[in-house]
Amino acid sequence: MERSELKERVDRLSDITQQITAQQLKELKYLLKEAEKLGDVYMIGKLNMMLSLCWFDLGNRDSILPHAVKAVDIFEKLNDRKMLAFSRNLLGLAYRAQDSYERAIENYNLALDALRGLKKPYGIRKDVICNNIAESLCLMGEYRKSIRILKESLAELYSKRPEDHMNAVIYAMNLSDAYEGLKQYDKALEILDNCRSDLEQMEREVLLWGYYARRCCVLYRNGKLKEAEHYADLTIQSVNSGYDSYEFHRDFEKIALQEILAGDFRRAQCFADILTAYAEANKHTIDQIFSKRVQVSIHDARGEDARALALYRELNSLYKKRIQEQHEMQYESQKSAAVASQEIRKLLQRVRKSEERAERDPLTGLMNRSALVKITNRFIQTAEEKGKHIGSIFLDIDYFKEYNDTYGHAAGDEAIKFVASACHSVETATVKFFRYGGDEFFGIILNHKDEEIESIALKIAETLRSSGFRHEKNPNEQRLTVSIGIVNIDMKNSNYTILELSKHADQALYYAKEHGKNTVFAYHALKNGDHEFRRVLGC
Ligand code: GH3
Ligand code: MG
Repeated sequence: MERSELKERVDRLSDITQQITAQQLKELKYLLKEAEKLGDVYMIGKLNMMLSLCWFDLGNRDSILPHAVKAVDIFEKLNDRKMLAFSRNLLGLAYRAQDSYERAIENYNLALDALRGLKKPYGIRKDVICNNIAESLCLMGEYRKSIRILKESLAELYSKRPEDHMNAVIYAMNLSDAYEGLKQYDKALEILDNCRSDLEQMEREVLLWGYYARRCCVLYRNGKLKEAEHYADLTIQSVNSGYDSYEFHRDFEKIALQEILAGDFRRAQCFADILTAYAEANKHTIDQIFSKRVQVSIHDARGEDARALALYRELNSLYKKRIQEQHEMQYESQKSAAVASQEIRKLLQRVRKSEERAERDPLTGLMNRSALVKITNRFIQTAEEKGKHIGSIFLDIDYFKEYNDTYGHAAGDEAIKFVASACHSVETATVKFFRYGGDEFFGIILNHKDEEIESIALKIAETLRSSGFRHEKNPNEQRLTVSIGIVNIDMKNSNYTILELSKHADQALYYAKEHGKNTVFAYHALKNGDHEFRRVLGC
């Protein structure tokens, strides 16, 4: 697959976040393989990010993490803060799905760091990340901190994005959860009431049912039994119609426990069944724990001691298993992060090498014109910013056609290689040479004095002179010579482009060719707007 096709197909999938189909998931996995074959690091990162997001939306707790780890690693290495902010947030969500709240918060905060100062972030906002932080804080029992953050996020959302009904509902649900934690049930209910209008305009139906479950919880706590039962029935119905998500299971458990307290074993059993069915389908220990905890409470409350005891034992071993898993997860994620990191480093090296190859002239090894544009622009920018000089050198071999005709093309190649090596020998961090084409070479020089540029030109001419390449058809001394044009511009008062810079050096070179060749001429701008060419002494 070509890179362009890959990009096109990835772009086509870019906005899937809801109701991901098996077909789309298959396509994403396939495209990831293709990106790996092509060594397209950015796309590997992006596809890992998209896959992680899909698994998050599909509620597969374990698959979110490895993809998010890879995406973060890549965008960190590429120093792509836009994508990094998005991936870091995802990695936070991945840890959150594993009930590792501290690690989740750590990553959400890194997402905020990456986001800072970005003009156009990619699909993620500060208030969304803050909501995620607040949610994890609430799950850790830090209710007051959580409330403070959520109030801010909600205020920002209502003032800047009143049309974002979905997030308004999500933030309100989390806020009500935190107030519930503080046992301020009236307040929790009030918050849920306040986002009613957002709820009615919201598009995501699964969240609507989550909201009902949340409301049900608060209503039970508030002693509003009849209303609570109504919402409990709505919630059960919604799950039976397929609107389930592990995100709501914490509330399902709370509802079931309230029902047990109220002696409503029938409804409590319904929620226990929902959790058990999910745990059996999903096989995840976290989900098994949810299901087992509710079952234990039912049997315990009913005084079925033997059954309750057996279930407590099972629950106990599930907790142990989970602790073990968390250790392993930590170890595994560190290990896979290290492996991913290695792979990506190798890929990036390969990409850099091939980029470098594309910027080098194969005959001489000198940089070519595509590198010329890049480096010259960089030099010009620095010179402009810091008010420095920028100089250029144009060099062309004299009577080179005749050289080829006399000694053959292969010998001509050797001569070109030698001139290139002479240019290369004077290169430094601020002096760069390029093969401009044929027998022409171009040099760009940052922050040097006129005399220094002249001596660079003379040194190249001298290297060639002392090499003793014979050229009997050259009327000047019967050996290979070059003509050189130079210019040096003070960027304090001018804004020169590459074109102007090369034009003036080229004019000086042309002047040198017109005036006997085997010589160096410098272009000098005069105060009256005119210019003149001065022969550089020493040649
Ligand atoms: P002048 O002194 O005015 O520069 O005349 P010239 O004969 O050098 O003419 P010009 O610079 O226009 O011609 C360059 C020649 O260089 C033409 C082409 O055959 C030859 N040439 C270009 N690239 C290569 C190359 O890679 N290898 C060899 N051997 N010759 C090349
Ligand atoms: Mg020539």
